[in-house]
Amino acid sequence: MRHFRLIIPALWLVSLVPCADALAGPAKPGGPSASAPFVVVIDPGHGGRDAGSRGALLLEKDFTLRAAGMLAALLARRSEVKAILTREADTEMTAVQRASVANYNAAALFLTLHADASWRPGARGPAIMVAAPRRPPRVAGEAAQAVAFRWQRSQNIHLASNRRFALSLQRRFAAIRAGERPPIHILAVRNLEGVRMPAAYVSLGVISTPEDEARLSETGEEDPYLTAIARAVLKFAGLTEDLPPKPPVPVEDAPAESSRAPESPRQPESSETETKPPESSQAPEASEHPATPETGVAPPESPQSGADAPVTQNAAPAGEGR
Ligand SMILES: [Zn+2]
Repeated sequence: MRHFRLIIPALWLVSLVPCADALAGPAKPGGPSASAPFVVVIDPGHGGRDAGSRGALLLEKDFTLRAAGMLAALLARRSEVKAILTREADTEMTAVQRASVANYNAAALFLTLHADASWRPGARGPAIMVAAPRRPPRVAGEAAQAVAFRWQRSQNIHLASNRRFALSLQRRFAAIRAGERPPIHILAVRNLEGVRMPAAYVSLGVISTPEDEARLSETGEEDPYLTAIARAVLKFAGLTEDLPPKPPVPVEDAPAESSRAPESPRQPESSETETKPPESSQAPEASEHPATPETGVAPPESPQSGADAPVTQNAAPAGEGR
């Protein structure tokens, strides 16, 4: 946590462009443009000591980092879209820190990428999750707890947009393997709760199933699932779905990385929590975090917020073993 302060100036720098544009006038009559891009924050699930789920060879945290980078590169082919990663290295982040990147950057969409495991031997294929509606906070006022509860329910006003994005993505995924419609789960997903914009959790496959692990291992920038996500993002942004061919890579090197995420801080105190109970009965600990520049209010972090495994609220998701 001692590094957290370092991230703030970086976040402000990153946020200058979209914020300045947003303040410049009554939001973009003609839709996103190169000067006022649609900002999507892509969150590679897990990282650092939190390896996520495991296949025979592949770790979820490594796959998500690669996939997020490739998705960002795909979206970078469109100047009207600005993709920002929550992490660009094998670093550990809490759910609050991931959400903060999206909130600071005034993103229009937040996607967290995963490749979860399943206890079902034959489980395979992607899955989509969106936040479940949450009861309005019972605590009124500006007390830390009241603010924390509101913060946790920021997905409530985006339910319709979330559903629209999820259905669009589901349709595109289903077209990849005819007849296989990935499920859409509506759950209390910790990684989505603090995000103040439409958001979705996308599991790109079941890493514990050999067939899916092999596919995930070979994921490249032209991967049909990543392309489907990119097109769904474009559609959601109100843009055409064209993805121009990959630009030639300069001789020097450098993968096309249009956007930058702030340095991800280490989280010495967070620990892994896959077996912890759902969060609903736990009060957030607002005091653990420094004030954010956006609100002046410390974002709450509940004790297990380092984990981003979805927490089932109303139903056991098929194929999600975590
Ligand atoms: Zn995961």
